[in-house]
Amino acid sequence: MRKGKKIALHTKIVIGLIAGIIFGTLFSVSPTKLEIKSGGMLREIQDWQEINYLRKDSVIKTFDANSQIGIIKFFKNTKDKKDLNIDVKFPNGTNERINGISSVEKVKTIGMALKPLGDIFIRLLNMIAVPLVLASLIVGAASLSDLKHIAKIGGKTIGFYALTALIAISMGLILANIMQPGSFMPPETKDRLLETFQDDAKTRIDQNVSLNIVDFLVNIVPKNPFAAIMEGNFLQVVLFSILVGIFLTQIPGEKSKTILNFFDGLSETMIKLVEKIMLIAPYAVFTLIAATVAEFGFNILQTLLLYSLTVILGLALITFLEYPLLLKAFTKIKIKDFFKTQRPVIAVAFSTSSSAATLPVTMDVCEKKLGVPNKIASFVLPLGTTINMDGTALYQAVAAMFIAQVYGFDLTLTQQLTIVLTASLAAIGTAPVPGIGLIMLIIVLQSIGVPEEGIALIIGVDRLLDMCRTVPNVIADSLACVVIANSEGELKRIDTTDVA
Ligand code: ASP
Repeated sequence: MRKGKKIALHTKIVIGLIAGIIFGTLFSVSPTKLEIKSGGMLREIQDWQEINYLRKDSVIKTFDANSQIGIIKFFKNTKDKKDLNIDVKFPNGTNERINGISSVEKVKTIGMALKPLGDIFIRLLNMIAVPLVLASLIVGAASLSDLKHIAKIGGKTIGFYALTALIAISMGLILANIMQPGSFMPPETKDRLLETFQDDAKTRIDQNVSLNIVDFLVNIVPKNPFAAIMEGNFLQVVLFSILVGIFLTQIPGEKSKTILNFFDGLSETMIKLVEKIMLIAPYAVFTLIAATVAEFGFNILQTLLLYSLTVILGLALITFLEYPLLLKAFTKIKIKDFFKTQRPVIAVAFSTSSSAATLPVTMDVCEKKLGVPNKIASFVLPLGTTINMDGTALYQAVAAMFIAQVYGFDLTLTQQLTIVLTASLAAIGTAPVPGIGLIMLIIVLQSIGVPEEGIALIIGVDRLLDMCRTVPNVIADSLACVVIANSEGELKRIDTTDVA
């Protein structure tokens, strides 16, 4: 590189991501160490052979050397912690007894210490997301001028999103049928996972999501749009904004102009803000990835390797095969150039696991780099962020098949077609924030009669897969944006120089 040449921001972000992976790996949390608090004293124990939980002196639960998560969760999930003691057996035959324990945790490392910077970054992006969706959709819908035009662009957008969702779910089903990730899980592993994560699963199941299409449609209409904005209910905010945008064009010009100028200004301010926030992205991405890698229980990944590989392979196929094919079929943009512009989008989606937090970046990139006019980007992207989740849909299809296979269900064609329908709806209903895809999976499981407690089997790797599935979720939005702008003859020249 020439001396004095500035490193492009997207390159810095990629460097932050890679450095984060390396740093997190170097300072990863050890799976054979525990920090136990008792009587105000912290004790670190490591390399145990067996750990017994005792109530007074009687053993109530035994764990072996590979059960760090189980040991921690057992303590968390035990309601009555009075007289709870631990007896640690070491391989050399010695024992250590710890009485009156008040916490059992992993031993933290420096890999996790910098995470607050990453948390601030995510919060800043989330802070922008709701006002941006509101303002840009109002302006977007209003600037599409008449109802016919909105219906045309809206129809194309929803049609494109439906097409990619169907491909994604079918891909997930095909891969799960070929690779059969759930058919090889030993029953002991199944029991162990179900036991370890049963309480986490229950918390999610208690959120009571259910598949009732009528309720689903009714609930998209906000009773109070301000409450929807406050709660960050994206579907409701989207509907409200589109309606306001449409009807703004039908009131006298001098009145609508004032409101439009207001929201236009708000939306531009948010975009300006994101350009500045992105300056800390390389460091924030570094801290987020370092903390996740450091904390992630890689031994659980081994247990769920085939399942995780099936999901990741499916996500890779839609991202690097399907999307380039669609890009070629519908536009003249070079695949390489398209992906080059998507680098910051991918890095932010991967490190935050949130399409909503990534939206400001996606908007910036689509308008400034991919040459999509504001009126199309500000309509297609917020809508896509909310309803278009190919990665999540594929993941839900594979996860449902996996859980069914572990439980020994042989799903019929009709049941698999039910997955296509319910996973499409579940993905639409998934809020664009971390971890919701897993909760909405419960709907898919209910529809095919597979026990919903089965989500306990996959919770351990959900964070990692959430990071991965959020990437196609956001790339598909950018893709739809260029495809629709191109079909309207409105795509300007692509610019692949530095972003932001
Ligand atoms: N994290 C995903 C997103 O924001 C949603 C999910 O699948 O949980 O796109």
